[in-house]
Amino acid sequence: MELRTPADHGLDGGPGESADRQSSDGAAVGLSRCLRQDELTLVGAREVAEPAAAGAATAADGRAPLLVVKGLSKQFPLRSGLLQRVGGMVNAVDNVDLRIAPGTTLGLVGESGSGKSTLARLVTRLIEPTAGSVVLNGTDITALRGPKLRRERQGMQMVFQDPYSSLDPRQSILEVVGEPLRIHTSMNSSERRRRVIELLRQVGIGPHVLSRQPHEFSGGQRQRVAIARALALEPGLLVCDEPVSALDVSTQSQVINLLSDLQDRLGLAYLFIAHDLSVVRHLSDRIAVMYLGQIIEEGDANEVYVRPTHPYTAALLSAIPVPDPHHQRSRPRIVLTGEVEMGQSAASGCRFRQRCPFAMDICATVDPEPFVTPSGTTVRCHLHTEGPTLAGATVAGLPARV
Ligand code: SF4
Repeated sequence: MELRTPADHGLDGGPGESADRQSSDGAAVGLSRCLRQDELTLVGAREVAEPAAAGAATAADGRAPLLVVKGLSKQFPLRSGLLQRVGGMVNAVDNVDLRIAPGTTLGLVGESGSGKSTLARLVTRLIEPTAGSVVLNGTDITALRGPKLRRERQGMQMVFQDPYSSLDPRQSILEVVGEPLRIHTSMNSSERRRRVIELLRQVGIGPHVLSRQPHEFSGGQRQRVAIARALALEPGLLVCDEPVSALDVSTQSQVINLLSDLQDRLGLAYLFIAHDLSVVRHLSDRIAVMYLGQIIEEGDANEVYVRPTHPYTAALLSAIPVPDPHHQRSRPRIVLTGEVEMGQSAASGCRFRQRCPFAMDICATVDPEPFVTPSGTTVRCHLHTEGPTLAGATVAGLPARV
């Protein structure tokens, strides 16, 4: 295979010349050992120019939501001293509302400590909420206990972040994937074996692995096994808590493509959690951005990527690297300063104010209420109700005035 050189692009230079040259029109060029390099270039260009278009079709769908989360909150006690006395409460999740339609993906994004994983555990009832409700398929599962809860919860399963610790290392793959079937169904062992083989096939793994143990697999294969196990009881919703964060980049894309294929084939809905907006972009129909326990922006994925309405979302987007080095160097960056105030009280104004380049006096005293913009994005920020005109602002993507 020949190395594609700058000469292939009408420029001087030969094999071995360094990458990141510029053509006469200023476009960056590079070297690649790939026969389909032109196709890859086109894919990259489309990524920069047009964000995913999945959200618009789903927004117009109109189906009843599969999951409705209303006013969900979780407080944890703050303990200190030798006797671990409770000195206050921290709002890990604060008054969160979410809706997910069947067959769609809600991408939930936020930095470490924002409350994403706590929210995932609340939604799946692995921990008890302080307040609020979780309605799955029309049933309020926050009010259920014991066998009723276990039965209803089969409609939603969780895929955990770390495939190295989420699978029992002493079990075979047949036991790992077949365990939910053994506990929750009346299948006999040969029926279970057939179903496990079918589940493994759905995630691209052959039946020859049934007797192997999780430690014999790579991280990506383990995550496929974890997904097969999550699919065993035919749930309508998968709660994926950073399912690709522990994987390398090429394996991340394989797992994301697998989830996308499964969604197309099985009509699954996803609550897909990540700390990186670029990871959720490929899958998501809607995006919710979380900061210190609150959803500070939620809307159609295209809208959030193209026209972020909260300064924090704009900062996250500006930190995503783009595959065009020329564009990467020239585009504006928002560098956040200040500390994240962990454990900040909800009563003391906007939680983002210490890091916000637009903070106003009101931001220190009044917690912004959710505001719905004309494009349908829900945002918590005083700029949209109290702010001065932002014409000439350097924050990429923020509206001049909503
Ligand atoms: Fe910034 Fe104020 Fe908006 Fe908070 S409410 S994001 S501090 S402008």
